[in-house]
Amino acid sequence: MSRRPMMAANWKMNKTVMEAEAYTAALLPRAADADEVDVAVFVPFTCLYQVSAMTQDTAVTAGAQNFYYEDSGAYTGEISAPMLLDVGAGAVLVGHSERRETFGETDDTVAKKTRRAVEAGLIPIVCVGETKEERDSGGMWDKVSGQVRRVIDELEDADGDSVVFAYEPIWAIGTGDTATPEDAQEAIGKIRDLLREITGEDFADGVRILYGGSVKPGNAAEIMAQDDVDGGLVGGASLDVESFVELVEAAQNAVAQTEQTEE
Ligand code: PEP
Repeated sequence: MSRRPMMAANWKMNKTVMEAEAYTAALLPRAADADEVDVAVFVPFTCLYQVSAMTQDTAVTAGAQNFYYEDSGAYTGEISAPMLLDVGAGAVLVGHSERRETFGETDDTVAKKTRRAVEAGLIPIVCVGETKEERDSGGMWDKVSGQVRRVIDELEDADGDSVVFAYEPIWAIGTGDTATPEDAQEAIGKIRDLLREITGEDFADGVRILYGGSVKPGNAAEIMAQDDVDGGLVGGASLDVESFVELVEAAQNAVAQTEQTEE
C-alpha cells in the first residue's frame, strides 16, 4: 500500500516572526511543486499565527511543537488544542524527545495529548525513540514498543490517517549521528508490525511513520527509499529553507522511484 510521504521541519526554539515569514514565503512555491509530498513546518508559538495565515489553503501545513491536553483553565504557560485551531494550526508534535527528556513528559501525558489532538482534528506527530544507553543495553525495543502501546491504548477507533508516528532515536537527534537506512527501516518496520498486531491491518498499512535524527540532504534519499519510512522529521537541516526544500525534493523523488519500480 502506498502512503503519501510527509516531510516535516521542526524549527525548535529558533526564528523570529520576520525570519519565519521570509522562510515561509520562500517555501510555499517550492512545496507546491512537490505535489506527492505533505509538507509541514513545526514552529515556535510566537510565529504560529503568521505561518498559519500564510499557509492557509496551500501545500504547507503549519503546526505547533507542543500543547496541553486540557482545553482551558489554570495551566500557566500552556497552550490548548482549541487555541492552536484558533490560530489556524493543522498539526502538532507530541512527545518530542526534548520534551520527554528535558521537560519530563511521560508516556501517559504523551498518550493523553495524542488523544486530544486527534479528537480536536489536529494531526499529532507522535515521537518515539530510545537513548544510546537503552540501545547499547539491548533495551531499544522495550522502550519504543512501550511508548507506541501506551499511545494506542489511549486512542479509540482512530484511523491510520489521523495520526503520524516519528521514530527518532535520541542518540541521532542533533548529533550528526544518523541511523543507517537499514536501522531506520528495521525499527520502523517493527513499529508497523506491532501496530498491525494491536490495531489491525487497515490502521497499520495507512499510518505514516517518519524517521528523524540528523536527516540532511546528503543522507535523505537513501533513508526515504526504505519501504516503511514514510518521510522525515527534521531539526537542524530544516532551519535553512534551501536545505529543507532539498529534503522535500528527496521525498518527492523517492515516490517517483517507487512508481517506476512498480511499473
Ligand atoms: C528533531 O528535532 O526532531 C530532529 C530530528 O533534529 P535533527 O534533525 O537536528 O537531528
